[in-house]
Amino acid sequence: MITLGIESTAHTFGVGVVVDGEVVVNQKSMYRPEKGGIHPGEASEHHYANAVNTLKNALSSANIEKEEIDSIAFSQGPGIPQCLQIGATTARSLSQTLDIPLVGVNHCLAHIEIGKKETGVKDPVTLYVAGGNSQVIGAAGGRYRVFGETLDIAIGNAIDKVARKIGIPHPGGPELEKLAEKGEKFIELPYVVKGMDFSYSGLVTKVQRELKNHKKEDICYSFQEHAFAMLVEATERAMAHTGKKEVLITGGVAANQRLNQMMETMAHERGAISVKSPLKYCMDNGAMIAYTGQKMLKKGVNTQFKDSGIRPGWRTEQVDVPWL
Ligand code: AMP
Ligand code: MG
Repeated sequence: MITLGIESTAHTFGVGVVVDGEVVVNQKSMYRPEKGGIHPGEASEHHYANAVNTLKNALSSANIEKEEIDSIAFSQGPGIPQCLQIGATTARSLSQTLDIPLVGVNHCLAHIEIGKKETGVKDPVTLYVAGGNSQVIGAAGGRYRVFGETLDIAIGNAIDKVARKIGIPHPGGPELEKLAEKGEKFIELPYVVKGMDFSYSGLVTKVQRELKNHKKEDICYSFQEHAFAMLVEATERAMAHTGKKEVLITGGVAANQRLNQMMETMAHERGAISVKSPLKYCMDNGAMIAYTGQKMLKKGVNTQFKDSGIRPGWRTEQVDVPWL
């Protein structure tokens, strides 16, 4: 079975091709804001302008004609409505033109499924940390349950806000991480964990205010230590409650070495393991959508045209997962 997958929840327009459960192509075009964060109108313009080329490149790299595709998967949500719309429209048109099944995939779930496939973990507590999402997720009773999440902004967004104040362009995570490595002084900052949920807006405000009083390296170091400790605490609590012995970290912030190191220390102390998804699948991509969509189709799940509208607020726990 050849499945084409389309991703367009935020800054990335991605097209992946999966043949019988294996990724053969993963093409993408990324929108980068000139200043500030993601501008929904500009991002969707970018997707609109690059959709056809990305699609053509993916097909030619896979060495297939569009008539050979058996099914179309697309990222139906959650995400920025204007961006989702471009992927959904492309997928719906293709499905109708080629007269092949369509399947709407939950973006967060796709990150988990491709991460499991690539790392070999079977039943992890997943920490999904990105620009627009921060969730602690685990399987229970045939669904992925959100055990904990941010009460306000996502960790990636928090990092980008601090980075912007320092003068680092979007996305600021990699450069902020480098500055943090040079930090030496630990500065006490707000630490907010409520049950298994956490919060970042107070921390960001405090960090932005404290920048004038300290070396930026020390601020970045202390900010990371606080922000990541919250994630590790929430993840550990989810492991304690569920008895799960594996952690999977995915999403753009999973690239951060310090976060992985802290999670590995915690996991090790519990006799568990922590792994991170390969970077290309931590970033938004079409391959994970094709892979997950094909898994759904094989279980008889597809999306009728009338149900194929975008779902900007679609939550992970709303999806039935027949293979769990
Ligand atoms: P995503 O939304 O999954 O595309 O992830 C993008 C987010 O990941 C942005 O907020 C980036 O700043 C963040 N990010 C990327 N690399 C790193 C890193 N090395 N450390 C921390 N955050 C990062
Ligand atoms: Mg993502």
